[in-house]
Amino acid sequence: MSRPAPFFAATLAVGTEITDGQILDRNSAWISQKLVHEGIQVIEHRAVADDRAEIARALGELSAKVDLLFVTGGLGPTSDDFTRDLLAEVFGRPLEFHPASWQQVQDKLTARGVQVREIQRQQCFFPKGSRVLDNPLGTANGFAFDATQEPGGRMVRLVALPGPPAEIAAVWEQGLAQDLSALVPEAEREKLFIYRCLGRGESEIAELTEEIVSGSGVRVGYRAHVPYVEVKLWAKANDVSAQAVLLQLRQRLQPWIVNENDEDASDKLLARCLGGGSVRILDFATSGLLQERLGSVIRGRNIGEGALDLVIETVYSGVSEAGDSGRAEIKSKARGSEESVFVALLPDHEAQTWWLYFREASAQEREIELKPNFNLKIQSERAKRFVTEKTLLLF
Ligand code: ATP
Ligand code: MG
Repeated sequence: MSRPAPFFAATLAVGTEITDGQILDRNSAWISQKLVHEGIQVIEHRAVADDRAEIARALGELSAKVDLLFVTGGLGPTSDDFTRDLLAEVFGRPLEFHPASWQQVQDKLTARGVQVREIQRQQCFFPKGSRVLDNPLGTANGFAFDATQEPGGRMVRLVALPGPPAEIAAVWEQGLAQDLSALVPEAEREKLFIYRCLGRGESEIAELTEEIVSGSGVRVGYRAHVPYVEVKLWAKANDVSAQAVLLQLRQRLQPWIVNENDEDASDKLLARCLGGGSVRILDFATSGLLQERLGSVIRGRNIGEGALDLVIETVYSGVSEAGDSGRAEIKSKARGSEESVFVALLPDHEAQTWWLYFREASAQEREIELKPNFNLKIQSERAKRFVTEKTLLLF
């Protein structure tokens, strides 16, 4: 099944633990992020209780408006798991036993030392014509089939996945990802472009953006997450006029764009260290925020112990002002240092500015006087985030 864009998708999370508020529907968020990257627009997330009538109604309503519907949860063997029965019922596909799945269930349970029970067989029935999606982590395999509600009606692809998030990720890797990338032809995909801006507020950035984008047909969205304002744009890679709009906008926002798409401000610093460079940062300004920020990126990317020659010293006292003597002291420290890059951040409380100092063994030193357009005393957390990002962008 391959059809032109727009290609719409929705997710349906099944589980009373979700509608009761015991857990949040993380599955829909995770799936949607994946779909957006495949050029598929997700237009609705719905959650329903483990209730036959509600599940059936949601299946009917959602499948009437999308091309691709994900249903998560309720595939297990217990009496409150109805997803497979209702998919079979609503789309008129009798359930068929899948011996290979039953064999897998028996093997998995035996390997875990768990007694195989007859009730587990329920997980091995799939609506006629389904493709079974292997679940290497759990006992309930997922499944997918293309269906129409009435004969001759429009086609919708249904994908049913188990509830546990880790199992969904595992099924995804087993081939579902590949299936999906074949759904929307490359040329038809709407790609997400992100311009991440720093130093101007959301409304100001939005005003500049709207002047260029409005009426152009390019979809636009905004996300403010301190200290950034992200401008998100969706356009087809082969749409010449849309690409021209993106280019024009990039020029307009140039002074504030700090990175694009999935780049992170810390990328260059980390690449430098991973490439064998050594970096030392003396931080008198962020109360540890810079260290925390880098630490979370390093952990998130699973960069091993000892892979980086990076020293960050957070200083809460000592040379605490960027006056003449403070600066001279830092510079003499930098000249005596052995690292390939030496960086220092000093606040000047009086002037409400920061002094950023950057010295490379091979090149000259750079000094930047940073003055944000907001009140440092009132917005001190925001100020710290701002100076943290500006420091990372020095690299
Ligand atoms: P199982 O065989 O494990 O019961 P299942 O397919 O029947 O799988 P559920 O019983 O609906 O799935 O959910 C199992 C667990 O998965 C839930 O207790 C919950 O922790 C997690 N889970 C289910 N749905 C979601 C969701 N939408 N977002 C996050 N976690 C979820
Ligand atoms: Mg269950």
